[in-house]
Amino acid sequence: MNVFIYEEKRKGSVITMDKHMKFSTGDKIPASEKLLKDIPLVGEVSFSEFEDTKGEIKGKPIICSNCGAILTNVKDVQTDAKVGTFFNCRFCGTVNVVDPKDLPHNINAYSGWLIPPDSTRPDFGKGIQKGNSLIAALDVSGSMGGSKIEGVKQSLISTLKAYGKSKADALFGLVTFESNLRIYSPEGEEVLKLGGDILYDVKAIEKEVTNNSWVKRQLQKMTIKSTGKAWQKTIQKMQALSSTALGPAVVAARIMSLTAGTGRVLLLTDGMANEGIGSLSGASPEGKKFYTMIGNALKDSGIVLDIVGIAGQGSLELKTLALMPEITGGDLFYADLSELQDSFGMIAGDEIIGRNARIKLIVPDEIELTTVSGAGTRELDYKRGDDISLGGLTKSRSISFEFKPKKKIKDRKKVPVQVQIRYKDEDDNERIRVIEEELTVSEIKEELEKSLDADLIAGYTVQRAAQVMQNDRKKSKEMMADMRQTLARAAPMAKAAQEYLNDELEEMDEIMAEEEAGATRSADMVQAKSYRMSKKRKK
Ligand SMILES: [Zn+2]
Repeated sequence: MNVFIYEEKRKGSVITMDKHMKFSTGDKIPASEKLLKDIPLVGEVSFSEFEDTKGEIKGKPIICSNCGAILTNVKDVQTDAKVGTFFNCRFCGTVNVVDPKDLPHNINAYSGWLIPPDSTRPDFGKGIQKGNSLIAALDVSGSMGGSKIEGVKQSLISTLKAYGKSKADALFGLVTFESNLRIYSPEGEEVLKLGGDILYDVKAIEKEVTNNSWVKRQLQKMTIKSTGKAWQKTIQKMQALSSTALGPAVVAARIMSLTAGTGRVLLLTDGMANEGIGSLSGASPEGKKFYTMIGNALKDSGIVLDIVGIAGQGSLELKTLALMPEITGGDLFYADLSELQDSFGMIAGDEIIGRNARIKLIVPDEIELTTVSGAGTRELDYKRGDDISLGGLTKSRSISFEFKPKKKIKDRKKVPVQVQIRYKDEDDNERIRVIEEELTVSEIKEELEKSLDADLIAGYTVQRAAQVMQNDRKKSKEMMADMRQTLARAAPMAKAAQEYLNDELEEMDEIMAEEEAGATRSADMVQAKSYRMSKKRKK
């Protein structure tokens, strides 16, 4: 593994980046596209150990005026009698003049830069979303009756118990929805109940929740440490009632989150939204518009929304609801009762590193970036220097990008790749981090094949197939089957990668069989599966 070594090397502590960025071709890059024509050239950034390095540079990084690359090594800085102090950009060759007093003594790009917030704050609450506090929006409509609601209650209670041990200072709030929307206190008192026409009016719901005195004054004191036991009792008493005002509940949960400064909304449902704003019964383009709007509003407030959909025979319209986790960087599970606890556990265990995260990729001119995946189930066309919005950045995420040499690479022995990640931390500071590596240009096919990372290639293929499967199951299957064959030839020893592709292909067959049988829930299954595949979470 090629590692990028920062300035610290001279002081004896080497920081290795190999945990954070990997390539399908290991530490190499083919000199031309045709050398490895069946194998995608992919870089993958993962965030599981993102927080391990601490320390930062105060102020803004020094940036190439042409391509936007961040200066990561003070050794690149030179002084010239005519030009003054400058650096040659390693990506585009531009000569950038710098003011010597802006230069830090050394740069640890991985620890990054920290820019404190300006003093302006949003209208609501403290305006800072604390990562792992939670507002639960719980479906208690008629279809949840019996074992489903019992299952959800038990899972929610276990989550509260787990939080009580590991995150006792986290806040918890609860909004339930059926034909009415209700906000409860830990003791089970109904502090707000909304029903009827108001549920079709976003502004009116927001106003009611904002002005509610309990939400305003009490919610921010509801730490799990002090209220966990009472919540458990209250949740235990919940019962299922008539129809499903899911949209209004999300509106209310966002305001509760803003007011209390919690960063996470967990939406639990088994049924189709059919009451109030965001109703999805009947063909309605309004629904899609509403969930896009509220998804963006959540994201702009730095709130992550996760969905646990409870599998039954009916449809949840997950395809539309999924817009919210997609936009905010949340997760989506479609679980039967036996899998509920695992889904809750994965959400509770997946810590939020930062909010409003954006990622930017910088490569030299000779390299063309094509697609980016892992930012949800959408497919993104990408140009060098574009910002990709990720919403909340959680540890379980990974972002992949595909690239290729535009023409034969002649003038470089090494190709640098830089990933810039910007996000807001819990104290509203803007943080900037850089992950950078250099790939060695190779013209030898055998040498390139030897350094292939088959697991990464299989994972990327699954991620890409997830984007395609929403519209074309057959093509999605072909992509995985073709790659299985390619890997069998190019990397015959990599059995795990082939098995991974096999498992996904088998499950795709099962879902397609349900579709052919006309099962109402098959669309939800497709949505949930593509979400899981896009996160490369194995079955
Ligand atoms: Zn540049």
